[in-house]
Amino acid sequence: MVTLRIFFAPSSVDDAVRAARDAHPGWSNTPVQARQSLLAEYAHHLRRPEVREEVAHWITLENGKTFADAMGDVWRGLEVVDASCRAGHDMLGDALMNLSDGIDTVSYRTSLGVCVGISPFNFPAMIPLWMFPLAIACGNTYVLKPTEKAPSASMLLVKYLHDLGMPPGVVNVVNGGRETVDELLVHPDVRAISFVGSNNVGEYVHEIGCRNDKRVQANLGAKNHATILTSDADRVSTIRALAGAAFGAAGQRCMALSVAIFVGDIDDARGWVEDLVRAARGLRVGNGFVEGVDVGPMISIDAKCRAEDIIRRSVDEHGASCPLDGRGIVVDGYENGNFLGPTIIDLGRVAIESSGGGGGGMPAVLDNPAYAEEIFGPVLTVLSVPTLEDAIYITNANRYGNGASIFTSSGGAARKFRHEVEAGQVGINVPIPVPLPFFSFTGNKSSIRGDVNFYGKGGVNFFTQLKTVTSNWQYRGGGTDLGGVTMPVLGKSK
Ligand code: NAD
Repeated sequence: MVTLRIFFAPSSVDDAVRAARDAHPGWSNTPVQARQSLLAEYAHHLRRPEVREEVAHWITLENGKTFADAMGDVWRGLEVVDASCRAGHDMLGDALMNLSDGIDTVSYRTSLGVCVGISPFNFPAMIPLWMFPLAIACGNTYVLKPTEKAPSASMLLVKYLHDLGMPPGVVNVVNGGRETVDELLVHPDVRAISFVGSNNVGEYVHEIGCRNDKRVQANLGAKNHATILTSDADRVSTIRALAGAAFGAAGQRCMALSVAIFVGDIDDARGWVEDLVRAARGLRVGNGFVEGVDVGPMISIDAKCRAEDIIRRSVDEHGASCPLDGRGIVVDGYENGNFLGPTIIDLGRVAIESSGGGGGGMPAVLDNPAYAEEIFGPVLTVLSVPTLEDAIYITNANRYGNGASIFTSSGGAARKFRHEVEAGQVGINVPIPVPLPFFSFTGNKSSIRGDVNFYGKGGVNFFTQLKTVTSNWQYRGGGTDLGGVTMPVLGKSK
């Protein structure tokens, strides 16, 4: 179905890359203040409620998340546009004078050329806005390949920039799926690729992109764990936080909560799970445009069937209990919708051998597919363990490392968790610790490929090339003689 037609989109990958390549000399020579000014106007435009509402409307229509959540999606992207307005400051290089008599060295951060962004369905505004604003602020030109499942937000976001006077070719959109990505990965004029999406695709993009001499940053899948100290966490606010983080956006956030580990007495843990079930049952599932709805549909029938199959295998084949089963939910008026209600899978008490440092094996119960696989749906796996050490051990043994949170009122426990947990984004009484753009988005382990992060200082490093210039200026003779056939030595004292 055609939902939105934008006429500036080029007709092929090669057209788009060529337009970006041709626009690069002019754009990179545009003073950085002028590039920042355009982005400041852009941020101002996006800040207007009616503009954000227009983008959010298309997000809810195509992705399904609630309209309020879609407005948050746009806002979190707008924050990165704001931060891109200080690119000149972040691009400052280094300089050192008088390395030898008359010799100075300075390093500059220069633009790369044509950069590409490949984005996922789950944040149709925020993630494209992690990509092209900072890239163009640094003097690059851009080709954005949005998700084919919810492309209209990207189209609108780029259209606004064109309407504000961005020169033709600076940011281009190409739509499509695998074939389009494949062409971009090998195109000789593409210098850098930013990818956000699943592990299978991201590992492929990273491998093919690197093999074709591109710089690649790839943010991938997740299985975010929360540790709850049942003896001292604030019960009401923690239960609310857990339910929101697990089931908001139908669990389709890369920082959604997938696993809750209750630490402490086994009966206490049972009581917490009962409270969580009660809170999750109270969430309203339905059309994201309807006021009061908390959980919208999943992105596709395939995604819903896959999640339901994992629940079935988890319970029927691996023996987990399911105190809240969202399968079979019917939303009035949308009987064929891709709805899955909040679901809780309980793995019960888990015993870890010698987690206090000896490194015991992982118990077989963690082979349960609800724990082992990224579900990317409104399904939360819960379990309980006796000690904080056990919870940290389980969290660190997981292949993913996007986010991990602890809920406690103990400073000592929080400090131990913060220090020892191997996740890129750590929350202390914060359920979804996505960093603001002064920092970077810092996934860890299998949640990332490439080692330069999105936005913040990492983003500027990714979108720029260091150039280091050494000069030898003599005034009326003297200075350093660099002639001769031996390797010149600058820093040696005479
Ligand atoms: P996806 O991997 O299916 O798609 C991402 C992009 O890749 C899309 O633009 C798509 O068109 C393209 N693509 C899909 N299949 C391809 C193929 N075979 N070859 C080349 N390109 C292909 O991901 P998705 O389903 O849109 O998004 C969900 C995933 O993204 C989840 O795994 C989630 O954890 C992850 N995600 C991660 C982060 C993060 O920052 N770590 C953020 C958001 C989403």
